[in-house]
Amino acid sequence: MTSERLGIFGGTFDPPHIGHLVTAVNVRHELALDRVLLVVNNVPWQKVGSRAISAAEDRLRMVEAAVSDVPGLEPSRIEIDAGGLSYTADTLAALLAEDPGRELFVILGADAASGLPSWERVDEVREQATVVVVERPGARRATPPPGGWRWVEVEVPHLEVSSTDLRQRVVDGRPLDYLVTHEVVDCIEELGLYRERG
Ligand code: ATP
Ligand code: MG
Repeated sequence: MTSERLGIFGGTFDPPHIGHLVTAVNVRHELALDRVLLVVNNVPWQKVGSRAISAAEDRLRMVEAAVSDVPGLEPSRIEIDAGGLSYTADTLAALLAEDPGRELFVILGADAASGLPSWERVDEVREQATVVVVERPGARRATPPPGGWRWVEVEVPHLEVSSTDLRQRVVDGRPLDYLVTHEVVDCIEELGLYRERG
């Protein structure tokens, strides 16, 4: 017996935008998922590369602000609490250890889905979850890697929005309105994020 159908939508969410939110609510609806967790990736200091990534707690705060009034979407700090570099294989195992009756669905935009073969212990991801892919403007359509994946494509409105563009908008003083929720606009202002970066 399945106890719940649980979506896992991981991201840096720096910041979370309508592309993420529209994807999460529509996949939840189409696949009749009980909940979708927006799992904020922890980015350890070892991995900070060419751009500054906002503190994990600040990114979590923005996700909380974005989904607080949306039924079925929930922020998750599971990877922040695990610390260090978290792999999806481990996150799925932890979610199944909490409740083995869950059916897991890993939600990915096409750009992220194309990177699947390079993931750590990708065979464990394949065993533990169904992959749900949505198209993303500017990204090539993703196809399942070889090897018997449970793979579902879900049609969602195509929104050409990225966190990269939103960060640049703050630097340039251009508006974020309607690309992120107004709660997220307020949160970015309060936290003073993105003012000094490209
Ligand atoms: P950045 O520009 O910093 O990489 P991003 O907008 O790509 O940010 P991420 O946090 O990297 O956002 O993405 C998390 C997940 O959301 C990934 O699976 C990504 O493919 C998906 N995603 C992001 N934006 C969209 C969008 N506009 N439409 C569909 N999926 C999206
Ligand atoms: Mg991205």
